This record gives sequence, C-alpha cells and structure tokens, in this order.
Amino acid sequence: MQAPVVYLNANTERQSGRQAQVSNITAAKAVADIIRTCLGPKAMLKMLLDPMGGIVLTNDGHAILREIDVSHPAAKSMIELSRTQDEEVGDGTTTVIILAGEILAQTFPYIEKNLHPVVIIQALKQALSDALEIIHSVSVPVDIENDEAMTKLIKASIGTKYVNKWSEKMCQLALQAVRTVKVEQGDYKEIDIKRYVRVEKIPGGEVTDSEVLDGILLNKDVTHPKMKRHIENPRVILLDCPLEYKKGESQTNIEITKEEDWNRILQIEEEQVKLICEQLLEFKPDVVITEKGVSDLAQHYLLKGGVTALRRVKKSDNNRIARATGATIVNRIEDLKESDVGINCGLFKVELIGDEYYTYLVKCKQPQSCSVLLRGASKDILNEIDRNLVDAMSVARNVMFEASLSPGGGATEMAVSVKLAEKAKSIEGVAQWPYQAVADAFEVIPRTLVQNCGGNAIRILSQLRAKHAEGQHTFGIDGENGKVVDMNEYGIWEPEVIKQQSIKTAVESACLLLRVDDIVSGVRQQQ
Ligand code: ADP
Ligand code: MG
Repeated sequence: MQAPVVYLNANTERQSGRQAQVSNITAAKAVADIIRTCLGPKAMLKMLLDPMGGIVLTNDGHAILREIDVSHPAAKSMIELSRTQDEEVGDGTTTVIILAGEILAQTFPYIEKNLHPVVIIQALKQALSDALEIIHSVSVPVDIENDEAMTKLIKASIGTKYVNKWSEKMCQLALQAVRTVKVEQGDYKEIDIKRYVRVEKIPGGEVTDSEVLDGILLNKDVTHPKMKRHIENPRVILLDCPLEYKKGESQTNIEITKEEDWNRILQIEEEQVKLICEQLLEFKPDVVITEKGVSDLAQHYLLKGGVTALRRVKKSDNNRIARATGATIVNRIEDLKESDVGINCGLFKVELIGDEYYTYLVKCKQPQSCSVLLRGASKDILNEIDRNLVDAMSVARNVMFEASLSPGGGATEMAVSVKLAEKAKSIEGVAQWPYQAVADAFEVIPRTLVQNCGGNAIRILSQLRAKHAEGQHTFGIDGENGKVVDMNEYGIWEPEVIKQQSIKTAVESACLLLRVDDIVSGVRQQQ
C-alpha cells in the first residue's frame, strides 16, 4: 500500500491544537443543527435535491445526512456515525447526531478553558458507562408474543415519520414480515431483514393495499409467452448456470472449410442444449428459475416439457426464493438431486400490475423469506414509506432479540441527565465539569421535542426535571402538544438496545472528535 502524501507547504491547510478542536466542534454542531427539527412526532420534512436532479423527501436523520454534501472532516465523521447507527439498530439516527452535537457543545467551554482533552474524554467515558446502567435500570421487559404490545411499540417508532397516517397498517406489515423471516433453532436465533425481506414498490393503488406476501414477488415475466402463468403446487428448480450452449473456454476460433462441418457444429450445439434440458426434465419441474440466460432453443424444449422458465433473476432474489420454496440453488445440472427441488410453494402466478408483469411465488409453507408489496401514490412517497417500514422492522427485530423497553419521549434521556447530575457531585477534581456537561447534554432530547412542537422549553423542562428528581422516571414529553406526561399512560416506549446504542455511538464519536488535535489536509489547494 502506498502511504498518503502529506503536503506541508504554504498552501496547505493545517489546523492544530485547540484550533482544530474548535473547528471540529463547530462543524459537528452545524450538522446537528440541520437535523434538529427532524426529531419527534412533529418533525419537519427536508426536501433534498440530489445532483442528478431528483428529490428526496424525508425526516430520517440518516437519509438526510446521506444526501447532503459536506467537506469538513468532522461533519463527515458525524455522518458516518448515523450510518453506523442505521446499520446497527436501524432507528435513533436523529437522536445520535443531536446528542453528539450537544455533548460537544457542552464540553466546548472546557476546551476553551484549556482543560486537557484527555481529562474530558475520561469523564465522558465514565459518564457513558454510568448512563448505560441508568438506562437499564429504567427499562422494563416486554412480551414479544403479545401482538398488542408489539404493535404499540412499533407505532411509537414510526409515529414520528411520514407514514403515521397509516401507522396501523405499517405496524402490521413490519411485524408480519419480521415474524416471517425469523428462524429459531434452539439457542440460535436469526432475523435477517436485509437479506430476506424484500420491499417491492409499485406506484399506484392505495397504501392500505400493501401487503406482506407469504412468499416472493419478482418483477419478471416468463421467458416464452406460451409458458404457463398459473401453476398450483409447483415443483421449483433454481439454477445459477445458464441454459445455453456452453462455448469453449476462452475465445475459441474455428476455421471451417466444408459446409458439413458448419452443420455439424450447429448440431453439436443443439444436442448439448437438448441434453441439459432432458436432464432437467427428468426431475419433472414445473418452474425453472435461473440467474443466467435461457436460449431460444432451451425455451423450446422446456415449453415442450411443460415447464415455465424465468431467467436473469438476481442472486439475492434467488436466495430468497430458495428459502421460501425449500429449493437449493444448483450450479451444474449434472449435480441436480431430487432433494434440490423446492416443493413448499403453493402457487405460482404471473400477473399484470400497472403495465408490468410480476411473478408471484406465494402460499409457501414456512417461507422464512418474503416480499412486501408496497403501493402508494408516487415514487417519492413510496421511497419514504419504504425507509419508514425498514425502521419499523428493525424496531420489531431488536425487541425480539432483547425484549426490554425504555420510556420514550425524552423520559429516558431526562432520567439519565438527572441521575448523572447527582453522581457528578461525588466526582472529584476537574473531571466533575465535563461529567456534568454530559448530564446537561442529555436534556437536549426532551428540549428538542418540546421545541419542535412549539412549546415553552424552559418551563416544561423544569417541570420535567422536578418529576425526575422525585424519582418518577417514566415522565416525558407528549410530542404532540409539548406537555409533561407519564409514558405509562401515553404509551411511547422504545427498545432498550436502540437507546443504548444511540448514546454509545454519540459519546464515542464526541470522544473521537475531541481526541483530534491536528487537521492536516492531504489535498493540495488550488491556486
Ligand atoms: P430517530 O431517527 O432518532 O429515531 P425520531 O424522529 O424517530 O428520530 O424521534 C425519536 C424520538 O422521539 C425518541 O426519543 C422518541 O422517544 C420520541 N418520540 C416518538 N414519538 C413520540 C411522541 N408521540 N411523543 C413524544 N416523543 C416521541
Ligand atoms: Mg425513530
């Protein structure tokens, strides 16, 4: 590997020491300020224009940051941060950024007072581990088999999103999809949403027409118009090899002088295709799906054998079909065995939706993978619904792994803030200040929730603080009208994992940015 070249000439930007930290903190705060208004149920949407001229309408913190173009390294690292959060737990991306920005803002005065960053970082780490304990102590277990409790929980997560008009529907979709792909064998538990849930967005229709299929939907038609488009209980064979004449290895050049030779070559091709089709037909499949091509000749033989073929299916789709139908993807037709044939699918059909053909492989027994068919007015709206649905699914997934809930609406953050503030008093030396700063920073979540619905932040926050000081840690903000409410009654609860992960990510990134004491640009500035 080549080492990066660092130009240290007069044109190079170099910021060191406090200057670097100040510039990082300012950048991080700027990013946090952009997405501040996107937190909570009264969140505003952002309309983002991408360089290709498209627009993105969203209030998802991560989706916003992904689109905006920033150049400051600290801002970039904040964006990376929300991506981590998105990948790890799928929700809480806005929270992370706001929290990290606020922690940096609160520790800023101590940087200015020349407190050494290492002292600050140590205090931050200490506060983090205390905060995690506090979160755990205010969390309560939940029964994941209870539909009502689960729906309520998912509703709280997407209540802040564009889809809240259809939240009942979305919760149902998310829960059903997650339950479909859940695999449990003894201690082993797997819920892989990314791989086994596919969201198929088809503009048109009503959002309420959306559904989770008990199988797979593909945007494909059969290869030959005469093939059957409706088969019950099909035998499915999945291939990742082409059904075509195999050409010789690496560019074969053949010189032919006699006409018979040419005919013979064509004949060989034909024989070979016929042979592989015959081998296939021995297994009496009804549907053959391949990731590669199917030649005209092969289509002819398959059609004669009463087989329906689909070609050029994506690898990821093929994997899902394999799970749903119980088939094994086969690489060489010679290796095909009876056990590779999928028999779990109840219905194969091809239907026209809008002006495109879609293939359904549905009514599967225990599909373990599924497609979610989303309908909606326009593409932009469908994209946002898709993002929200993914959030909802990850909430459901997280809770299934760790069935513990923390009070939402800023209640958990307020509890952490109040308890850390108490603890701060027992900390000796200068470390007390940055520790206290973290405690103050946690108030930013309830404060922002109040601000975003137009409430009086100072008054409401002191009311809330008073409640928490009395030990009533389920009190938080009603995000609709900015009043102090008990979450036991108001009913906004969030998975503990998400809360834990958001503060972990926020504090660690704040530490990372504080640890930087030099920004040296490796890019030569333009003259
Ligand atoms: P994120 O991307 O961080 O998940 P959201 O916009 O989803 O951002 O906001 C999540 C925050 O809003 C959480 O702290 C949650 O507790 C809070 N929240 C969600 N719904 C409500 C509500 N109805 N009232 C008050 N707070 C809410
Ligand atoms: Mg959320």
